[in-house]
Amino acid sequence: MNAAATGNGAGRRFDVCVLGSFMKDLVASAPYRPRTGETLRGTGFAEFLGGKGVNQAVAAARAGATAAMIGRLGDDRYGQEFIDLLRDEGIDASCVVRDGELGTGVGLPVVEPGGANSIIIVPRANDAMRPSDIARAAPVIAASKVLAVQLELPVEVSFAALRTARENGVLTLLNPAPYTAIPTDIHPYVDILIPNQVEAEQLLGYPPDGEDARSAVGDLCDRFGCRGVVLTLGERGAIVARRDPGTGMLDITPVPASAVTAVDTVGAGDAFCGALAARLARGEDLVAAARFANAAAGIATTRPGAVAGMPYLPEIEAVPR
Ligand code: ADP
Repeated sequence: MNAAATGNGAGRRFDVCVLGSFMKDLVASAPYRPRTGETLRGTGFAEFLGGKGVNQAVAAARAGATAAMIGRLGDDRYGQEFIDLLRDEGIDASCVVRDGELGTGVGLPVVEPGGANSIIIVPRANDAMRPSDIARAAPVIAASKVLAVQLELPVEVSFAALRTARENGVLTLLNPAPYTAIPTDIHPYVDILIPNQVEAEQLLGYPPDGEDARSAVGDLCDRFGCRGVVLTLGERGAIVARRDPGTGMLDITPVPASAVTAVDTVGAGDAFCGALAARLARGEDLVAAARFANAAAGIATTRPGAVAGMPYLPEIEAVPR
């Protein structure tokens, strides 16, 4: 396979390394979703750079972290747009591979008036990530304070990265999105688990609503045997569980969301995870980091676009928390 890594991160150290996806979204607006065989005239078109991986890397960088990204792009026009974005955001791309055979991942949403949508995702180069890519990226993971991983890439690749991070004393964050069944042998390599309500329900088998959210974060902490769980609750903010490594006692703290008028919640979870990673890399405690992440994600919901809406450090710091 003709694959070439870009840039050169040799010798640098990073606060946050994100392993994850790149997806170019080509969004059509239409009066309704077309039926089989139908050609339908759309009413609008927009292009966005997205993918949970790159969203979180940009969120972390704008929140003040030095960041690196590991992932795979096509050797095509969309791939170049992502390379330009990473350069503009100051994110190291030395472990971003350009795949000579497969194009950059794309998402093709059709959005109806009122916002209901259907989406076709074609992961392309994202799906060609292999554990050998992680072996090549190991020096960058080892040179980072925090590794953030989601589940948009093949699960064995996420597993390899989490293991590499653990072997090098790097704090590991898993955002189990989109939900994918993960083998239980991954659990011991996760320090902090960050699900939303849907993912928590899929992991646990029951909905983490109301008072149950407290027991849900405790259950997740027990099942993963991890140091902490941050369950995001949309407009209700988040709930944080921390396990005291000495006593084994569980501390559960709700962290309310900012009062904002949300206009676009796409990418809110990514804004949260990226900002949380940036603060944990500074050595902040999990509850303080979750307060900061709520402030960042709250701002992101007030703006259209995922990458475009990610807030910068001074804006986040200006939010009372
Ligand atoms: P996801 O985007 O993954 O579905 P959530 O809906 O739980 O995740 O949102 C993630 C975070 O975004 C929340 O924890 C909160 O900080 C922020 N957020 C989402 N929706 C709102 C809202 N309506 N008002 C304020 N903050 C919000």
